[in-house]
Amino acid sequence: MERNSVNRYRLPVPENLLERIDKTSSPAHVGKLRNAIDFLVPENTPVLAAANGIVTYVKDDSNIGGSNPAYWNYTNFIVIMHANGEYSRYDHLTYRSSRVKVHQAVTKGQEIAEVGMTGYTFRPHLHSQVFIYIGTNFWMDFDTISVQDFG
Ligand SMILES: [Zn+2]
Repeated sequence: MERNSVNRYRLPVPENLLERIDKTSSPAHVGKLRNAIDFLVPENTPVLAAANGIVTYVKDDSNIGGSNPAYWNYTNFIVIMHANGEYSRYDHLTYRSSRVKVHQAVTKGQEIAEVGMTGYTFRPHLHSQVFIYIGTNFWMDFDTISVQDFG
């Protein structure tokens, strides 16, 4: 599905710590993840909520990761639900760095976690995507959205 996001999203990391944005280098940015964005930043950079919303998922109990696809399921991540059914997701977070809990309301720019190296990742960065659900399976039934002003 191609559509422009109806919400306005801010950069999910502090601008002064952003090395660069990379949309295409990751071998994972294909298929339904084609609109995902990697924000290259130092480890432990604060992760910021891209828009107001409600936290719907938090995983921060993983402490392993690296440049092997075997680490795919070990990413720590947070999902936030926004207005009009859009969600944002933040991956590779540092072990036990989440500052938020499920059902918590967050505001745009609020610090929610730290950038880490959990899951399948070659270097410290924040993997992020805006998406919608297109079915009922949390892991499979989603599609990412192209967001013009998301970084
Ligand atoms: Zn990525």
